[in-house]
Amino acid sequence: MTVLQERIPWAEINATADLVSVVEKHVPVLLGKFNGRLSPEVPCPKCGGKTRFRLRLWKNGHLMAFCSHCAPRGLSAIDYIKWYYDFTPVMAAKWWMENTTVRVAPRQAIEPVPIEPLNLALALRWHNDMDVRAREYLYRRGMTDRWIDYFKVGYHTGYRRYSFPLIIDSLLWGIQYRLNPKIECVLKFLRCFETMENKVNIMRYISETGSHNHNIYGTTEIQKKPWLYAVLIEGVPDVVAMWSQGFPAFSTFQGNNRAKPWDLAWNKYLKNINTIYVIPDNDGGDKGEFFASQKVQEIGGRAHLHWLPKEYKDIGEFIQKDVPTASQRLTEMLMLPPMKELL
Ligand SMILES: [Zn+2]
Repeated sequence: MTVLQERIPWAEINATADLVSVVEKHVPVLLGKFNGRLSPEVPCPKCGGKTRFRLRLWKNGHLMAFCSHCAPRGLSAIDYIKWYYDFTPVMAAKWWMENTTVRVAPRQAIEPVPIEPLNLALALRWHNDMDVRAREYLYRRGMTDRWIDYFKVGYHTGYRRYSFPLIIDSLLWGIQYRLNPKIECVLKFLRCFETMENKVNIMRYISETGSHNHNIYGTTEIQKKPWLYAVLIEGVPDVVAMWSQGFPAFSTFQGNNRAKPWDLAWNKYLKNINTIYVIPDNDGGDKGEFFASQKVQEIGGRAHLHWLPKEYKDIGEFIQKDVPTASQRLTEMLMLPPMKELL
């Protein structure tokens, strides 16, 4: 019996506690679903949010639990118990040490998952296989062949989705698949008849397994040369449409993340841009404004909000309204000249 044993090994508990088996008891739907790196998103045991709760192997090699609504910054093993049972930190740490059904695993370094690019051939295959009919939809969204080919946009016939790869320096870091809007229409129709047993799940975006989505789409292009301006928008397809219309643009690749709308580490990619116009989506609430103003704040002095006319949900809708006049209308709306060399 030594005094040392009285010490609460905070770091050790967080590093070694068997969080998976505890979470599997609290959230049975996750049983066997954690693959060593991540779990699917499921209803939150605490706030009841529908698809918000998940497990992730974090960058420090520790497992964390997240709920986008009530635990957006992530919960370590101790924080999780504190959160789940409304314990104090000391109670939560003691819970881990005393709970006989839970094994505090022997300390061993967990190998952080190496960040590796995906096989570029994957993206090129969908791009090269894309037929004229699939391209027609992209034209209707304001994209041109030059930029469709440049960004290697493609179509995955199995997924029935358009593929938007994130390629930086000839390496593939991720692919976002956007549901074919015709299929989306059918699913929306079927949703009218859904029952508790037969739910119609419309996932507009899915991403390739192993994608590194925490990234900027358009990062190579905006760094290529000094730009007078660039436009920060939401949604990867609209970035391709904006370049097609003569306007340098970029977006986050992962979509919006309430806990981290912008990563300060990305500011280094923006050095060559004189002024950055951030365009919020008009979503009827304050969500668009929230994300856009957070981005403006974190990018700093060169970033400014620029509002779309209220009748358009997003920049994509503005372009699609009438593609032949899109470049001219963008010029008037943004009060910026298009870059002729992009057209
Ligand atoms: Zn929650």
